[in-house]
Amino acid sequence: MSAKSYIGRDAVLENGWLAAHKWLLIRRIVQLGILGLFLAGPLADVWIVKGNLTSSLTLDVLPLSDPFILLQSLFAGHVAASSAVLGAAIVVAFYLLVGGRVYCSFVCPVNIVTDTARWLAKRFALPKGWQPSRQTRLWVMGSVLVTAMVSGVMAWEMLNPVTIIHRGLVYDFGYVWTVVLALFLFDLVVSRRGWCGHLCPMGAFYGVLGVFSMTRISATQRAACNDCMDCFAVCPEPHVITPALRGAGTKTGPVILSGDCTNCARCIDVCAKNVFQFDLRFNNFAPASEGDGRDEMVSTNRHAA
Ligand code: SF4
Ligand code: SF4
Repeated sequence: MSAKSYIGRDAVLENGWLAAHKWLLIRRIVQLGILGLFLAGPLADVWIVKGNLTSSLTLDVLPLSDPFILLQSLFAGHVAASSAVLGAAIVVAFYLLVGGRVYCSFVCPVNIVTDTARWLAKRFALPKGWQPSRQTRLWVMGSVLVTAMVSGVMAWEMLNPVTIIHRGLVYDFGYVWTVVLALFLFDLVVSRRGWCGHLCPMGAFYGVLGVFSMTRISATQRAACNDCMDCFAVCPEPHVITPALRGAGTKTGPVILSGDCTNCARCIDVCAKNVFQFDLRFNNFAPASEGDGRDEMVSTNRHAA
């Protein structure tokens, strides 16, 4: 076994296993907790939340609606109920505050499936397979809206695995496990990170929101980076790291501004040098102690996503 046998080993040795998996554990608890809240009604008659991820009512007072699904409905020519518009506005405001693709990393149940497939693919060094452009998901998102406008129905919602899986789990549709297996195998053997990283229109929508969101990941201590590459290895969207981490000595600040970043915080977990932290988008200035030119010594080839 090599000296560096797994991603994040240095962080585990330096900070302990719990600290090196803190955000991963928090995310899974939040994802399963949200699912549990939705399931508690149908399964245990505890109705804290009614509905599903598409549209819900919490404690009989707080309406929440998925803004991308509302947008499809509007494109299809439907008149939205005021509660749906209010619910979507609340959701948009929330994700503008915490990060658009926090939906992907902390809420969406598909994320657990695709993360598992990615982990297994890396563990067994499977080929990456088909890797379409990251822009593909934006084209898929546009096509979903145009289809709704032309057809007058929310056609995508009959196929959307996020909706199918969440509704299926809540309302006990047997075929939901077929969808889970299909997504898992697609990401494992056809296209690594193919669904979430390249195709999913909901991820694309929340990524657009994320461009404007407040809470960001920052490589604040980037001068301490020792080029172990663990953050790149663990990141679901590694291209977002390079400008922030490798900007030392340049005008590029340490804050990751790409809407593709999911704020999953795995880069915080696995960094033994504690380079990354949560921050606000406005704190994007290079620390005065930087500028020693160390970035010029780094081979950019090593950092290609
Ligand atoms: S990209 Fe789509 S399926 Fe993946 S986590 Fe985000 S919303 Fe869910
Ligand atoms: S940069 Fe960090 S927080 Fe953003 S997606 Fe990558 S690992 Fe997650």
